Amino acid sequence: MDQREISDGKHETVPEGDPVARPAPFRLSVIVPMFNEAEAVDAFLDRILPLLSTWTDDFEVICIDDGSRDATAARVLARRRAEPRVKLICFARNFGKEAALSAGIDHATGDAVVTIDADLQHPPELMGEMIARWREGVDVVAAMRSDRSHDSAARGFVSGAFYRVFNKIAERPIPPEAGDFRLMDRAVIHALRRLPERNRFMKGLFAWVGFRAEMIPYEHTDRVAGESKFRFWSLWNFALDGITAFSTLPLRVWSYLGFSVAFIAMVYASFIVLRTIIFGADVPGYASILTAVLFIGGIQLVSLGILGEYIGRILIETKQRPLYLVRAAWGLEDHED
Ligand code: UDP
Ligand code: MG
Repeated sequence: MDQREISDGKHETVPEGDPVARPAPFRLSVIVPMFNEAEAVDAFLDRILPLLSTWTDDFEVICIDDGSRDATAARVLARRRAEPRVKLICFARNFGKEAALSAGIDHATGDAVVTIDADLQHPPELMGEMIARWREGVDVVAAMRSDRSHDSAARGFVSGAFYRVFNKIAERPIPPEAGDFRLMDRAVIHALRRLPERNRFMKGLFAWVGFRAEMIPYEHTDRVAGESKFRFWSLWNFALDGITAFSTLPLRVWSYLGFSVAFIAMVYASFIVLRTIIFGADVPGYASILTAVLFIGGIQLVSLGILGEYIGRILIETKQRPLYLVRAAWGLEDHED
């Protein structure tokens, strides 16, 4: 084991064979997206603040108020009076959780950055283990839920199906049970900031940047207050965003399908021509014509629809609109209080 100087003459032990083990005094940023979480803010901060001080004094909790219509921002600001390390970014409207996470990533100053939900479904205690793994040289420590019993059966089924499809067709698979509770090294944060796309499917982006990643299991608990902000349609659109952002297979599959249908059509056409030559023409055939016309028409509409999904997203990307708009911010280095 090597010794390395960390600050004013103090030394720490560096694990063998690991060149990137991190120093002991470190800065920790915690990013918390909040949308109508007024009832959860106090419970969340009461639990997380004492814990953070056990790991480091140099921390910041960046709360992102994602256009809440309740008193979320007021609650956070009330806490900020006693604890200035609690910071707040207020969005101009609801931009979605992915945008809120991006804002946190843009403004975090820590050596290690943790993203966590405000509803305490992610046990903050797990951050201790995450930090320990990070100190040993792991770049990304993702918490992996060990059971889905707290979700409805329908949601479990839909998300299971989504991950199966996504991982079949995306360039880089994402682990199904990893949520948005994760610790990232500063280098990963810098990498994420360099990704220019508007479509922030964070789970996919995390997988795309790579780095040394590890998963640790945890038990998902019920929300402390309020209810889930995700509805079926938003999850469906979220899934479409994810798939279109990380795979072009849905576009390419149509040429193969086209070839196959054309081939089958040719075989069938030869059969009909031969039959007509040998046995002469008979008029029936209404059913087969109509079936073929409807089938091909249906396929064409589906393929157009999928083209549309991609083209719509190209339009959004080309507009280059900002990912989120900040109405006000407290405690950030590049913002006035
Ligand atoms: N959230 C957000 N913007 C949104 C929806 C959700 O910032 O548009 C936050 C929310 O406040 C919470 C986290 O994202 O901190 C996870 O949301 P939720 O608990 O509703 O989702 P679930 O746990 O059901 O996936
Ligand atoms: Mg939740």
